[in-house]
Amino acid sequence: MSKITILIPCYNEQDVLRQLWERLNAVFVGITSCTFEILFVNDGSSDNTLTVIKSLAGLDSKISYIDLSRNFGKELAMIAGLDYATGDAVIIMDADLQHPPELIPEMIQYWQQGYDDVSAKRRKRTGENFFRRWAANTFYSFLQKITTIKIQENVGDFRLLDRRCVEAIKLMRETQRYTKGMFSWVGYAKKEIVFDSALRAAGETKWSFLSLVNLAIEGITSFTTFPLRISSIVGILISFFAFAYMAWIIFNTLMFGDPVQGFPTLLSVILFLGGIQLIFLGVIGEYLARVFNETKRRPLYFVNEYNGKKAVYRDEIT
Ligand code: UDP
Ligand code: MG
Repeated sequence: MSKITILIPCYNEQDVLRQLWERLNAVFVGITSCTFEILFVNDGSSDNTLTVIKSLAGLDSKISYIDLSRNFGKELAMIAGLDYATGDAVIIMDADLQHPPELIPEMIQYWQQGYDDVSAKRRKRTGENFFRRWAANTFYSFLQKITTIKIQENVGDFRLLDRRCVEAIKLMRETQRYTKGMFSWVGYAKKEIVFDSALRAAGETKWSFLSLVNLAIEGITSFTTFPLRISSIVGILISFFAFAYMAWIIFNTLMFGDPVQGFPTLLSVILFLGGIQLIFLGVIGEYLARVFNETKRRPLYFVNEYNGKKAVYRDEIT
């Protein structure tokens, strides 16, 4: 009988966990072909999330949990969970019930048919305003244009991964993670199923607009070096025009004796070029910062507690 790990990163989710656990169990009743493990990753919550997880674990032997040593962010909470998951397949889902557990049987069905990566795609982005939807769409189509790997649009982190996808992703130990891109990068047989995402059951989203912008930059810089290429292209174009303009000025002065003038032109050209140079310095800086961070080769996270036992850093896991 195969075992499936439900991996749930939790950050300040005390109000939803019990409800989530009940919904999950209601779903498990209908699935006889698999056993389940529910793996909560407490990502340094400042509320009573850990207490709630522990009390649930007391009621249900299917539950395991990792308590991280501080808040590391969802991307790192996910890799921690993948490191500790014991199932033959792992289903990653959010704690806030925006990912309906009722989809799990369908995911498992496709997995049993041989798909390695079954992801749930949102039909509509409910609960998000027009601007956020627009920003997300624009970002995806832009990212798709500048990369060669197919990126799945509107697909969140609600997905089932076969053991071999999990092992593949575990090999990718970069500290600044854009997991959504990694799922695409590792390949294997993918299947998308569609669902209507619900509103958050309780609590509030941890994503501010700024953190989404950061995630977008993360997505681009971890996936492609195309922005560096743009800087070369823009540089070539501008040099070319500057050269043509210079030739024209020299020609004008020699042939018609035009007095050289144009302080405003000079100033705007200098400022324009200064701006472009700063932008591309920033682009180079983004990549340099990534190099800097990765060369430190730090462990991705530390675990405080695993199933009630104090944990020390173990090399074989991370
Ligand atoms: N999360 C986490 N660490 C964080 C932020 C979020 O583990 O630092 C978890 C959170 O508990 C939830 C999931 O990531 O299970 C998605 O978070 P959220 O619902 O805030 O994001 P949204 O659904 O708005 O994209
Ligand atoms: Mg959510």
